Amino acid sequence: MIRALITDVEVLSPFHKRFTLAFEPLYADSWSHRPGQFVMLTVPMAGEVPISICSSPTRRGFVELTVREVGRKTGVLHRLSEGDVVGIRGPFGNGFPVERFKSMNVMLIAGGLGMAPLRSLLWYVLDRRELFGEIYLLYGTKSYQQVLYKDELKRLSSRKDVHCLFILDKLETQEDREWTPVEGLIPDLIDYVETDPERTCVAVCGPPVAYRFIVKKLLQRGFPKGNIFLSLERRMECGQGRCGNCQIGYKFTCKDGPVFSLLEEDLVPGML
Ligand SMILES: Cc1cc2nc3c(=O)[nH]c(=O)nc-3n(C[C@H](O)[C@H](O)[C@H](O)COP(=O)(O)OP(=O)(O)OC[C@H]3O[C@@H](n4cnc5c(N)ncnc54)[C@H](O)[C@@H]3O)c2cc1C
Repeated sequence: MIRALITDVEVLSPFHKRFTLAFEPLYADSWSHRPGQFVMLTVPMAGEVPISICSSPTRRGFVELTVREVGRKTGVLHRLSEGDVVGIRGPFGNGFPVERFKSMNVMLIAGGLGMAPLRSLLWYVLDRRELFGEIYLLYGTKSYQQVLYKDELKRLSSRKDVHCLFILDKLETQEDREWTPVEGLIPDLIDYVETDPERTCVAVCGPPVAYRFIVKKLLQRGFPKGNIFLSLERRMECGQGRCGNCQIGYKFTCKDGPVFSLLEEDLVPGML
């Protein structure tokens, strides 16, 4: 386990905080990860939780984690601040096959907290912009209040080399309408994208309930199964395929995933 120092805590929403962690000097240069991988984070006096890395491996010397407060361990973490020390094991999981994305258009489809692992991939492709074709970010949340990385995404929306499309379940407040004119669910956003499905790799991370609908829409639009990659998060304890908590069929989400393509040899029944 590596000790890491919390160097920044940013409140992203009433429920989410982003933690920036700096490594001990010994590990600062050697640490690397792939977009879509996660760490096992030890919260002092509470225990370990799996958390996706939301920073890109193109930015070195630190990692960023975005955490929603849902229970005891994430609650204790939310009360930590700059200068506190946590533990990190990992990185774990396979991550997105970024080599496969090269020279292709890249479509990222994020729902809610699914934006966290996809932010790592987003900055990876933006920092190596010349290696990729068109980049599309499709991001849906319930309300503007729950949008993560608001300022960053507003700045990205004005860039010409990335197409940002946002959707909210319901447009209720003035803030909601200023964020996006589009009301509905994430799969609806796919209709707004004009891209050659054969030349586009898609990365999806969202609430479990959304996957079936997103996948159905992508297949209707003609995206090949081998171009669609889903990050499937399941409850897991050890992160190393030992405890079996995240087992689906003969696959372990922690070890074989969390990223799976839609190809039959990759997915097992019951995964979606
Ligand atoms: C690969 C992976 C990556 C993850 N990445 C992130 C991340 O980037 N940010 C983040 O905030 N969380 C992430 N999670 C979920 C996070 O690990 C859990 O929210 C955390 O372990 C809850 O611990 P707790 O003690 O605070 O809550 P607990 O007391 O353990 O649980 C509180 C509530 O949350 C539910 N819950 C716990 N774990 C999960 C889970 N994995 N999926 C759905 N519901 C759950 C429980 O059923 C319960 O209702 C990830 C999980 C996995 C498996």
